[in-house]
Amino acid sequence: MEEKKKCMCGCSDVRVVACSGASNVGQIANQAAIQLAREKVAGFFCLAGVGGHINGMVKSAKEAGLMVSIDGCPVQCAARTLQHVEIEPAIQIIVTELGIEKSHEIAYDEKDCSIVIDKVKEEMGYRPPGPTSCLNRGDKVYDYTE
Ligand code: SF4
Repeated sequence: MEEKKKCMCGCSDVRVVACSGASNVGQIANQAAIQLAREKVAGFFCLAGVGGHINGMVKSAKEAGLMVSIDGCPVQCAARTLQHVEIEPAIQIIVTELGIEKSHEIAYDEKDCSIVIDKVKEEMGYRPPGPTSCLNRGDKVYDYTE
């Protein structure tokens, strides 16, 4: 029997981080996160601040209702950066596992970005805004002032 996915987009604060690596897949991860933020599916969170151990940003990342990491390849720099400060992403996406080959062309393809975006939404059980849709907080602006 097919497992029914629990809708997770009703959580009050969905955030997404991307590895933003120097490759096509890193840039696809970055662009997918940008688009998810534009669509207000998830707030795009500054991963570099977490990696830099900026206290307010680490605290804010830990307070996320749902954290999504998008990595270009199996090295998983984004997920591992979160794990380094004891944050386990609820959803982990690896672009190369979606049939997209890694190259060191610093370019991205819109179709490939769409594959990643659709996969994130599927994992979240996301439904677009409407009378029966879930609440999302993709438009949240974070304040890291300490
Ligand atoms: S996960 Fe892969 S593509 Fe992304 S920064 Fe790390 S090595 Fe580069």
